[in-house]
Amino acid sequence: MYSAGRQFLQIPGPTNTPLPILAALAKPTIDHRGPEFGALGREVLEGVKEVFATEQPVVIYPASGTGAWEAALVNTLSPGDTVLMYQSGWFATLWRKMAEKLGLKVELLEGDWRSGVDAARIWAVLAEDKAHRIKAVCAVHNETSTGVTSDIAALRRAMDTTGHPALLMVDTISSLGSIDYRHDEWGVDVTVGGSQKGLMLPPGLSFNAVSQKARAAGKTARMPRSFWDWEDMIAANVNGFFPYTPATNMLQALKVALDMLREEGLPNVFSRHKRAAEATRAAVRHWGFETQCAVDAEHSPSLTAVRLPEGHSADALRAQILTNSNMPLGNGLGQLADRVFRIGHLGDFHDLMVTGTLSGVEMGLAACGIPHRAGGVDAAMRSLAGNNAPGGLLKG
Ligand code: PLP
Repeated sequence: MYSAGRQFLQIPGPTNTPLPILAALAKPTIDHRGPEFGALGREVLEGVKEVFATEQPVVIYPASGTGAWEAALVNTLSPGDTVLMYQSGWFATLWRKMAEKLGLKVELLEGDWRSGVDAARIWAVLAEDKAHRIKAVCAVHNETSTGVTSDIAALRRAMDTTGHPALLMVDTISSLGSIDYRHDEWGVDVTVGGSQKGLMLPPGLSFNAVSQKARAAGKTARMPRSFWDWEDMIAANVNGFFPYTPATNMLQALKVALDMLREEGLPNVFSRHKRAAEATRAAVRHWGFETQCAVDAEHSPSLTAVRLPEGHSADALRAQILTNSNMPLGNGLGQLADRVFRIGHLGDFHDLMVTGTLSGVEMGLAACGIPHRAGGVDAAMRSLAGNNAPGGLLKG
């Protein structure tokens, strides 16, 4: 049945796709070996570096983020190598499962799913590893299951103080283009990104930004790889082309997305997300709920995971809101199933969408009889009004 009004897609990605990007996707597909494509390829391959804050090559795959995880591992490692992973939440868990399926040994540091990567614990493990068994450290910058952002610069510093040569691989799938991230400055070796969140595109593209050290590791790495091979990509990319048929229309749309981000200015984009996150947390606090993130400095600017009081079903609340307000919210993943719901506030998103989203949640809470203090939306509006400097201000 037709549901009037635009759907509020408030899952933490895929995000709302803005009209200019939809229009780019609808353009006729062009010859991926012709001169028009070559120019497009060169432009997006160069332009996307800005979002990663890198001068190094960024490889673009016609794949979801999971593909780019695999690419990061198979381009740099050999069967039986050990990787150190930090279980910050559900997505870190999935990355670990993939590493094991690929025949890597995983040393896992368990986290509490309420805080970010503990750089001191990584430091302690690397400092002990005198034989340099560990070949890579893998971390998720923004854990989409918990709404926790980890301090990657601090992780790099901790690694550096041990003098350990392990590569640093970072998943930025739900932070790229919405949270400040610096591949070169923070000394990351492989950054994994996806199209469907901060970049405002549909799902379908993913990325590896790769350091010289990661490419050098690739020379001796023995994991089988063909589709994911960086070097074939980078060689073809010199002239803007790809070794196999690229996702032409997605690349046309990526060009538009990059133009939009450049026009707004990345620092403004980042503050806009922080502002939305802060307003969302003001509502959550007012309702009397806790966020899943338990550390003030680690709240994610791109999503908020909200814990419901014991005995209340987050899935029932989401179902009510979907039916009555046509607003999908993110579900709890893994051990958080039915305990939390997640509000995405990333991508093409402004103040009215923040308050509209929170209105939908507050109406749902009332309809489901979940005890809360009414007025969360007002609290969010006060937060937005207090944080209204152009380009945002913001703490945290
Ligand atoms: N890593 C993070 C942090 C994610 O949020 C997601 C998806 O939401 C993934 C990895 C997996 O990416 P994809 O579903 O695009 O394969």
